Formats: sequence, structure tokens, C-alpha cells
Amino acid sequence: MQDVVEKVYEQVVARNRGEAEFHQAVREVLESLDPVIAKHPHYAEAALLERLVEPERQIMFRVPWVDDAGNVQVNRGFRIEFNSALGPYKGGLRFHPSVNAGIIKFLGFEQIFKNALTAQGIGGGKGGSDFDPHGRSDAEVMRFCQSFMTELSRHIGPSTDVPAGDIGVGGREIGYMFGQYKRLRNSYDAGVLTGKGLAWGGSLVRTEATGYGAVLFAQSMLATKGESLEGKRVVVSGAGNVAIYAIEKAQQLGATPITFSDSSGYVVDEAGVDLELLKQVKEVERGRVADYVERRPGARLVTGGSVWDVPADVALPCATQNELDGDAAATLLRGGCGVVSEGANMPSTPEAVEAFLAAGILFGPGKAANAGGVATSALEMAQNAGRTRWSFEKAESKLAGIMQDIHDSCVSAAEEYGRPGDYVLGANAAGFTRVADVMISHGIV
Ligand code: NDP
Repeated sequence: MQDVVEKVYEQVVARNRGEAEFHQAVREVLESLDPVIAKHPHYAEAALLERLVEPERQIMFRVPWVDDAGNVQVNRGFRIEFNSALGPYKGGLRFHPSVNAGIIKFLGFEQIFKNALTAQGIGGGKGGSDFDPHGRSDAEVMRFCQSFMTELSRHIGPSTDVPAGDIGVGGREIGYMFGQYKRLRNSYDAGVLTGKGLAWGGSLVRTEATGYGAVLFAQSMLATKGESLEGKRVVVSGAGNVAIYAIEKAQQLGATPITFSDSSGYVVDEAGVDLELLKQVKEVERGRVADYVERRPGARLVTGGSVWDVPADVALPCATQNELDGDAAATLLRGGCGVVSEGANMPSTPEAVEAFLAAGILFGPGKAANAGGVATSALEMAQNAGRTRWSFEKAESKLAGIMQDIHDSCVSAAEEYGRPGDYVLGANAAGFTRVADVMISHGIV
């Protein structure tokens, strides 16, 4: 990295000790910015990079609640309002025991560039808690969500900060949080959260959007080579919201997804995933992947290793950060994989990304490939503001247009900065310049 950029990175490490994922996310963006700063040195003036890596606001709070046995539980809540140059802070809430300040900060930082790429006028934020919804009753999840929102409600609003779902936060949790927000504010501010139910301000296609978008991004990358997903074998990790709808769109486009996973193991179904069964197990019963295998002859459960051990043409990491390391990348490449489109946030380690770029395969980084979710959240906000509701077809066609535009912006930026086909550089450079130009217009704030 150039001196000026290296200095910023060193300061980030010194100021945010122990936050390895945040360091990783910052390093990846800063490395990409070398050619951008070399061509446009004014982006490094007035401490613009230093301001960009420092969240505008970080909120951390106690979340006390009572479990079904009458015991008082205490979790920690977070909201990082990272950058509001382009619009209200926007980004999901994650409920998972691994959540800490560094995880939320890395996600919030990525969100700035992702949201800029969507061109929907949204800033970057992220939040969550170390609460684990697994094994909790609906009543416990409700009490937790109400306590969490009691504090969070002071900080958010339709023009200020608009959270959505992420790992462990789906329609049920958004419902409980919206109910509590409405009660506290005595105001039906539908635009304060996205990912809402269809009967109370949600948008058609929001549930599907992240997974669909990641597959549409893969399709756009393949189209640059005159290819498509038709007939391709696809490995998918995760079995949550993003994974399920990535599988659905891949099937619609003629590909055959053959794997999915959760933290208990992974499933290989050579005949192609039975999506209705998977939805029943995961969305309705909130079960484990083993429940699928019990009801599906021919499918097998593997409890060691990862889905990346299964040879395929296309890989869609849709579970969590750093789930695909350098060894897994080498295995995928040996198995003939030519396309990776990241449904999750930062699922590939730096070594894996390096291996994909060195091999010259089509690699779509999360901040571009999974931007369909937040883009459709912005469409939900637009519908709430206009008190209107679009058809599935209209929302899906808007999503497809946005994904194609994001793809094309990455391609042009990669060409402009001398590395055609490098979607990592393309996404970071295109997202950065949009935010940086507006930060310069707004002065030192
Ligand atoms: P869900 O909670 O719906 O599903 C997550 C899936 O990944 C589950 O199958 C879960 O298994 C698995 N998983 C999560 N953490 C781990 C872990 N540490 N080890 C192994 N498996 C794990 O979340 P989403 O599908 O919404 O999110 C998946 C990814 O996509 C995340 O990286 C998220 O940030 C990203 N993303 C999500 C968006 C959205 O709109 N939802 C938008 C953009 C990105 P288990 O249940 O066993 O924990």
C-alpha cells in the first residue's frame, strides 16, 4: 500500500485493538484504493480516509430480559452509525453469540460501500447483539426484542437510521421490534425498519432479494464470458434467508444447487436440493439440516469439512464471515469452480480472495454481490414513504436492474483503474468514489 494509505491502516489497528474482522475489512478496501488515490490524490486530502474509517457514532447498551424460567438475562446491544453522507444509516441487525464491537464495525464499514453501489441514497450502519435466538421460545425472543428496541428506539428513525435483518433476525424478530417501536413512539413510522411483513408495510421480494441478487450477479459475471448458469453445478453454504433464496434463483436459472449447511454440518444432495423440503425444515420448523436428510432419500449429512470440498462449477458462500479460507479456495479451484458470488458478508478470507484473483476466475465480492437485500430495503422505504405497494414483478425487475447496474459499475471502475475483471477493486473503487465525492461536498463534518 502507498504510505498515505498504510498510515491510515496502522491508525485503525492501533485505535481498534483486537478487532480483527474490522482490520481485515479496512485493509481490503484501502488496498484497492491505491490506484484510485494515485490517480486522484485529492481523495487523500482533508483527512478524508481517516474520517471514512472512523464511525460517526457508536452505541453500545445493556439489554436485560427475563427468560421463561424467570431468570434475568443480560445481553449487549450495538448500533454503529458509520457514515451518513449518502442518506440515513442503513444496515441490518445481527443476533448471534459471536457478535461484538469489531464484528459490527466490519459489517458497518462494508455497508457504506455496498449501499453506495446501490445508488439508492442510503448511508452505512449495522447493529445487533450477542443474543442467541437458537433454542429460545417465541416469548423469550419477543421479550428480548422488546428490551433491545426500548433502547435502540432513541437512536433510529425513518430519516435517521433504518435497521433491517441479518443473521438471526428475520420476519419474526423485525415484527416484535416494530411493535415495540410503534408502542414507544405512538407513531406508525413504517419506514423505521425494513424486512417487515407484507401485511404491515413490507415489500414483496425483500425476503428473496439478497439470495436472488447474489445469483443475478453471478449470471451477469458469466454473461461477460458469453456463458450462463444453465446446467451448472452449484455449491451453497448456509441454510438461512440468503442461502434459501440463492438456491431458489439458481434453480430458476437452470442450475443445480447440490449443497447447503448450518453450524451442525452440511448436506450433499446430488439430485439437486428439494427446496420445498428445505423451506419446511428451516423456515417453518426452525430445524437442523439433519432433519432434511431424514426425509430425503439419497441426501447425505457430512459433519466434518465444508461444502467447499464438493466439486462444482459455481460457489455461493451464504453463511458467515471467513467461512471460506485459502485451503478451501484451492480445493474449489481444483474441483473446477469458475465462479464465486458472495451472498454472505466477507465470507472469503484474504488468502481465498487472493487465490481466486490469481486464478482469474469470476469473483463477486459480497459488497457488490449481496447488495440486492439492502437495495430492496431502500425500495421498501420508497414504498412506505409513498404509501404504496408494488407488485412482485415490479419489485423484482427493479432488483434485477439494480444488480446489473452494480455489476456494470464494478466492471467500469476495474477497467478505469487498470485491472479489468477485478470485481474487488471495481466494487471498492466505485463505492468509495461515490461516498468520497459527497463527503467532500459536505465539508469537514
Ligand atoms: P440467517 O440467520 O437466516 O442464516 C445464517 C445461516 O448461516 C444459518 O444456516 C446459520 O446456521 C449459518 N451460520 C451463521 N453463522 C455461522 C457460523 N458461525 N458457523 C456456521 N454456520 C453459520 O442469516 P442470513 O441468511 O440473513 O445471513 C447470511 C449471511 O448473509 C451473513 O453473512 C449476512 O451478513 C449476509 N447478508 C444477509 C443479508 C440479508 O438480507 N439477510 C443481506 C446481505 C448480507 P445456524 O442456524 O446453525 O447458526
